[in-house]
Amino acid sequence: MKAITWNTTTATPEETEAVAERLGGALRGGEVLELVSDLGGGKTTFVRGLARGMGSKDVVGSPTFAISKLYTAGNIYIHHFDFYRLHEPGIIANELAEVAGDAHIVTVIEWADVVQYVLPEEHITVTIAQTPEGSRLLTFHCPSSAEYIQKATQG
Ligand code: ADP
Ligand code: MG
Repeated sequence: MKAITWNTTTATPEETEAVAERLGGALRGGEVLELVSDLGGGKTTFVRGLARGMGSKDVVGSPTFAISKLYTAGNIYIHHFDFYRLHEPGIIANELAEVAGDAHIVTVIEWADVVQYVLPEEHITVTIAQTPEGSRLLTFHCPSSAEYIQKATQG
């Protein structure tokens, strides 16, 4: 299996949302996305665009204290997890294991370090790095079976 990696830069939160929105429009259900960045990097901003692109009207916010949030997008659900500061994933890891890869669910995870063992091998990783100028470098890493993801994010 040959994985693919590519980058894109966004200068504003609106641009990050726009890239994520295009990606959301291409998702089919069953995808698992891991979002990696420092605090304030733009993970939740990315999910906001992603949900909109999937056609969801739900309000996307940080699930840090709730740990998981659920949005609807037509006949697809978006499960948004955030394991920030959770050292012991506990029963939420079981919830994640149940939904990850389900064909009617798109699973998005912030701070997934403690639940790596639950993630399917085929998941998509989006790493967001802050540049000194305040823009963001988004790096996408996908299994080769997800070339439609690359097409969508490159516009
Ligand atoms: P995280 O979920 O990674 O902690 P958030 O999405 O909650 O991050 O917050 C990102 C913050 O950075 C927001 O205040 C957003 O307005 C700001 N920001 C500035 N530039 C960008 C950019 N290019 N992409 C995403 N967010 C940006
Ligand atoms: Mg967040």
